[in-house]
Amino acid sequence: MGRAKEKNATADYRSLSIVALHRAGMLRAGYDGSWEWKRRGEVVGAIDVESESQTRLRLRYRVTTKGEAELKDYPVPITWTPCHLGGNRPWFLCPCCGRRVAKLYLRRVFACRHCLHLNYASQQANKRDRAADLSSKLRRSLSCPGGYLSIPAELIPKPKGMHWRTFGQKVKQLKRVDARALVDAGALFASIERSLGQAYRAFASV
Ligand SMILES: [Zn+2]
Repeated sequence: MGRAKEKNATADYRSLSIVALHRAGMLRAGYDGSWEWKRRGEVVGAIDVESESQTRLRLRYRVTTKGEAELKDYPVPITWTPCHLGGNRPWFLCPCCGRRVAKLYLRRVFACRHCLHLNYASQQANKRDRAADLSSKLRRSLSCPGGYLSIPAELIPKPKGMHWRTFGQKVKQLKRVDARALVDAGALFASIERSLGQAYRAFASV
């Protein structure tokens, strides 16, 4: 499941393959040119690529956010590992987390799929927030103030005047909503914090 979601997420982004750059001769020190993305033969995007050294590629491009263009200009480290058949093969070191990867994806900055996974994680967090809101609403309708962490659904007493059948349905629905709000919340926050910490350290050391 996580795999399919990751695929969907990364398919939406423009990617940069170190192998393709290498084949195009763009990793030779001193190279200065551009990489283009094409769809049906038409150029749909381009960035400037400058190879400052064997281990440092500089990327320059514009991103437009809310109608404002911004120039991005930063180096991406490259590392080389020996191949079985001789020679060396290049890898990006993700500018966001430092992982060794073959592909980077463009959001506003280029980052690896692990870093983009953050996006997926925050979408899940939004779903969780919505479940938490729905939980509070259902609880209010059962005359039980508080959120999904206050008391378990099965311990909520039936409000006076409510039919047992209605009460039973609401408790059943509440259990489902609470479960959705609780799913891996702890693990999720820990992973987001870890990723943000790594990203922050990577930028702070530039
Ligand atoms: Zn990364």
